Formats: sequence, C-alpha cells, structure tokens
Amino acid sequence: MGKRSKGSDDDGREGRPPEWTTHPTTLRWSPGDDDLTALDPSATPGWDGGKAAATDLVAAHAGELSDLQERLFAEGRSGGSRSVLLVLQGLDTSGKGGIVRHVVGLVDPQGVMHRSFGVPTAEEKAHGYLWRVRNALPRPGYIGVFDRSHHEQVLVVRVDGLEPPEEWATHYDEINAFEAAVAASGTTIVKVALMISRDEQKERLAKRLDRPDKHWKYDPADIDARLRWDDYVAAYQDLLDRTSTVVAPWHVVPADHKWYSRLVVSELLLDALRSLDLGWPLADFDVEAEKRRLAAT
Ligand code: ATP
Repeated sequence: MGKRSKGSDDDGREGRPPEWTTHPTTLRWSPGDDDLTALDPSATPGWDGGKAAATDLVAAHAGELSDLQERLFAEGRSGGSRSVLLVLQGLDTSGKGGIVRHVVGLVDPQGVMHRSFGVPTAEEKAHGYLWRVRNALPRPGYIGVFDRSHHEQVLVVRVDGLEPPEEWATHYDEINAFEAAVAASGTTIVKVALMISRDEQKERLAKRLDRPDKHWKYDPADIDARLRWDDYVAAYQDLLDRTSTVVAPWHVVPADHKWYSRLVVSELLLDALRSLDLGWPLADFDVEAEKRRLAAT
C-alpha cells in the first residue's frame, strides 16, 4: 500500500477511507485497442487503498445494494419489466463462485436467479446453445447471475475443438443479437471477465489439492484446460473484441486479488441498479381507507 492510499495530510484525506482514483467503468473493454496479453492480472487499476479498505467498502455497499434490489423486486411485482443480469466468465479458480457468495450474497437471495453453466446435458445438447440460457434469464424484478454462460460456445467449444471453426465462428454475431434482444426487453446486462495469471491459478489449484476440504472443488480436467492457456487467451481476446457491445460491454477485471475483483463487481452491480433510478411502486389501494379498516379490526 502506498503512502497516498492511507490518506495523508498533504492530500487532505487524513482519516478518510480510500476512494477510487478512476472508476471501475474504465475496465470496460475497448475492442480493437485493448490487448489481453498486456493485462496484469495482479494489478488493481483505480484502487490503491489495499485489501482491508476494499473489503470494508464492499461491506459498506450492502445496504444500498439490498435497498435497490428490493426496489427492483417491488417494481417487478407491480408489473415492471426490468431486471439485471450479471454474467461472470473466467477460467477455473478465477473467483466466480466467490463473487456470487461475497457480492451477490449481500442481497436477499429471494430476488436472485442464479445459474451455473457446465457441460451441457443430453437434453440441453438436443437444443441450440442459447436454449438453456434463454430459460435461465432473470424474470422481471430479479437479479440474474450466470456463472459461465453462452460465451462458453466460443471459449471451451473453440479451444477443445467441440465444433469446427466455421461453426463456432458464427456464434459471435448470434450472441450479440441475442444480448441486444435481452437488453431491449428490459434487462441491464453487466458482463465481467475475471482474469487470473497462470501462476496464481497454479497456486489456487495446489491449495485445492493440499486441502481435503477442497478436493471436491478439484477437477483433473482443470489441468487439461491449463495446458491450453494460450489458446484460451486467444479465444478470450476474440470474445472480448467481438462481443463487447454498447448494450452489453465486457468489463475485464484483474483477478489475482480476490478482494479487488469483488470490489469491482460490487461497484458495477451498484452502478447497474443505480442507473435504473428505482422508486417504490405506488399503492394500488386506498392507503387511508385500509388504515381505517385495520384500526377497526
Ligand atoms: P467452475 O469450474 O466454473 O468452478 P465446476 O468446476 O463446478 O465450475 P461445472 O460448473 O460443473 O464445473 O462445469 C464447468 C465446466 O463446464 C467448465 O469446464 C466449462 O468449460 C464447461 N462448459 C461450460 N459450457 C460448456 C459448453 N457449452 N460446452 C462444453 N463445455 C462447457
């Protein structure tokens, strides 16, 4: 942590909690300009306040996140059509689950529609790849969370050669059209790609192997994916370049520090909810009359 991050006398921040130096929206991907191989997964862009202050800020967001989620839910119950969808992509151990637990977990689980997308089942395979995703979209009033998503169709499917190039290459445009339709129907889409380094992933996998209580999380196939690291980087680069759109931009988040990626996602989720300018639905009954009726009971 640098001197400035603690809030020094000369910058007039003594005693005040650290703040963002640049807002996390700067992590938004610029297709054609940004280069994934130049990204430092251990960096914490825009935040020099360190871990403890980051964790404190996430906790401090809980009240507002929870309030806005309840307003969204109330709106959905009152005929509104809006919802929010958080899409989490990232290689194994990149911290997708931790974000669900520590950030999405700050709001009432009754208002969250969470879905993990693993290897498609036989039933899912019988349909197009967007079928299972469409079925999992958040209903009005809900915050949807995708742990992996339809984007796997140009990631694992491409890297593992599960479809020939002429097939997977058609999916970028399909994904953009799909997401444009989802956005047009009232869903604010927040897409987050968590980027860890090879070394950090190795350490996280080693920890899983060392701890019997983490063995259930370990999948030998994770090593196979690791062996194709560079192919994944290339696939991610194309994914980001080709599916970062105005209505559904990607945010590329350095994820070697879990406390940083969690802070970023909490800010992005908060931004998405704030942008909806959510009020409380008006009562569709006569409040005074109901008070009188209640008093008479
Ligand atoms: P995670 O690795 O995300 O923590 P997990 O280890 O619990 O999750 P699952 O959620 O069961 O595993 O499945 C994730 C796996 O499913 C990943 O290896 C991913 O590449 C694979 N997968 C996801 N979508 C597809 C797809 N469309 N086709 C093939 N494999 C897919």
